[in-house]
Amino acid sequence: MTAASTANPLLEFPGLPRFDEIEPAHVTPAIDHLLHEARATIELIAADPDPPTWDRVAAPLADRLDRLDRAWSAVRYLNAVVNTPALRDAFHANLPQITAFYASLGQDERLFAKYRALRASPEFDSLDPARRKVIDNELRDFRLGGAELPQQQKARFKAIHEELAELGSRFDEHLLDTTNTWSLYVNDENELAGVPPDVKSAAHAAAQADEKTGYKLTLRMPCFLPVMQYAESRELRRSMHRGFATRASELGIDPQWNNGPLVDRILLLRQEAATLLGYRNFAEVSLVAKMAQSPDEVLAFLRDLARRSKPYAERDYAELTSFARETLGLAELAPWDLAYASEKLKSSRYAFSDQEVRQYFPEERVLAGLFRVVETVFGVVIRPAQAPVWHPSVRFFDVRDRGGALVGQFYFDLYARAGKQGGAWMDDAINRRRLNDAIQHPVAYMTCNLSPPTGDKPATFTHQEMITLFHEFGHGLHQLLTRVDVLGVSGLQGVEWDAVELPSQFMENFCWEWDVLSSMSAHVETNEPLPRALFDRMIAAKNFHSGMAMVRQLEMALFDMLLHCEYDAASRRPWPSPQALLDDVRRQVAVVPRADYDRFICSFSHVFDGGYAAGYYSYKWAEVLAADAFGLFEEQGVLSPIAGARFRDEVLATGGSRPALESFVAFRGRPPELDALLRRNGMTLAS
Ligand SMILES: [Zn+2]
Repeated sequence: MTAASTANPLLEFPGLPRFDEIEPAHVTPAIDHLLHEARATIELIAADPDPPTWDRVAAPLADRLDRLDRAWSAVRYLNAVVNTPALRDAFHANLPQITAFYASLGQDERLFAKYRALRASPEFDSLDPARRKVIDNELRDFRLGGAELPQQQKARFKAIHEELAELGSRFDEHLLDTTNTWSLYVNDENELAGVPPDVKSAAHAAAQADEKTGYKLTLRMPCFLPVMQYAESRELRRSMHRGFATRASELGIDPQWNNGPLVDRILLLRQEAATLLGYRNFAEVSLVAKMAQSPDEVLAFLRDLARRSKPYAERDYAELTSFARETLGLAELAPWDLAYASEKLKSSRYAFSDQEVRQYFPEERVLAGLFRVVETVFGVVIRPAQAPVWHPSVRFFDVRDRGGALVGQFYFDLYARAGKQGGAWMDDAINRRRLNDAIQHPVAYMTCNLSPPTGDKPATFTHQEMITLFHEFGHGLHQLLTRVDVLGVSGLQGVEWDAVELPSQFMENFCWEWDVLSSMSAHVETNEPLPRALFDRMIAAKNFHSGMAMVRQLEMALFDMLLHCEYDAASRRPWPSPQALLDDVRRQVAVVPRADYDRFICSFSHVFDGGYAAGYYSYKWAEVLAADAFGLFEEQGVLSPIAGARFRDEVLATGGSRPALESFVAFRGRPPELDALLRRNGMTLAS
């Protein structure tokens, strides 16, 4: 190792990332060094005259790529959670060469030939299933990476990928910049009538931080959502809604952040890449590595769900409009009235509000409750531990088995703040693998944008926020409880995208169990547990508007799939624009009005920057798996360690080492069934 590299915290392996030492200036030298190292290893493997074996090809390559992945994962993660101009510059300075490196790796004919020979060698049959799966995945990815293309097309294919990576990243930045820049200052407190006090005090503090009086409203979730739900002022809701719905569009606050042209370009490039690979469209490419077999199978699945749930959505909406007319005096529901009217109807019918519920769920109780569920069901122990972090509010934990042996570790970065990407997600910091006789333990980042503590009050979580937390923790468990020893298929690696949401959506179910909820509740002022009567109303409200929520998700999933299999971006047919396609889908499945300024497509980052292109249906697909899997816990007791051990052994531990359908069947004893999901959403003919 060179002198420069030893002083660089991004090059210090093994161990946890040195978040207390990493500076933007470290990024480029570290990435240069790691890329150089990886290229040298590739040359050695490629030049090796001996017949390929696992230990001569796959193992040394994985070892080098792991170092690069770990360093880049830390940089990418920091860029998402503590975004600064310097870090962003460093990130962008290196993104093209990282993308180019992987693109050329995916097209390396010499490595492709090595893997093909390895697949055909006698050694292949003697390898364990995980290693065989890695080799088969590699061959598949080489083909999808353009390794079989003629030279000229290969160069074009690579250029397309580099441009797509850059466009995706710009897409998210535009969204982040609009969300962080847009604000609305309100001077008169009367205009905030209805808005919960803690939201108002946070808004007041935000105004003070800008040396202004009054209140600063933003589009970040902990502010935007309660304003839309509770603000009496229709005008205020309309302004906020417009700000939100026009984010990163030509109607947004700054035209340089318009994602519209990026969307067109991304679609063109995806189509071109698919054509080069010999597929009819990008959706076909996307499904090669998924559980679903074809776009038609996905479209049929979504349309079947839409057909079965739309009557419930129409019923929900009819109830809402008549309630709004009769009780709120709103003759017609506008898009900015939906959340408000919904919340009013919900609280009138079930006599509780999100704000009331959250008073029972201070953060420490919620975390303790979450950990207790995980410890009971999966037989592990979670304890706070020490690690360098990137922000004072970040915490770190060890996961051990009952005998005290380390299983994995994770970071919690839970609160919303400026400069942090919105939403919630889990990302891998380190993946599990066996190194001779030692284990490289998996490490996960779990990130949310929950309401932070205000003043001396602890953070309290709405039920939805708890569900989000459990959801991300499910992804974390997938990453942490793996027992697979090889990179590429340990943890979430190699898991089909449409099965990735199985553990996360599975974990959400615990948020609807009385024993779980009551034990993690203590009113923030009185310390009293959640009253049973309130819980009963929450359960009654659980399926409130589940039909509307279902068709909203189906709308996005259908739009995404059709956009990538039936919309031709070059000829703009059969729809003249993505928006026209979305309007068409909405005519078929949506039940609520849309504002004419609504530019949802410009903020649909799942599809334009992320792994969900022609894959948004995965949420519903995996929800079917999750609802059906939880059914076994309903039969055996929701905290059943026996069912838990089976879920851990057959689903979580196996990761990507075998097809998800096989894991599901091994756990459940049969293939997944659609009915469990409809039942869990209260959509049965009897109801
Ligand atoms: Zn998820």
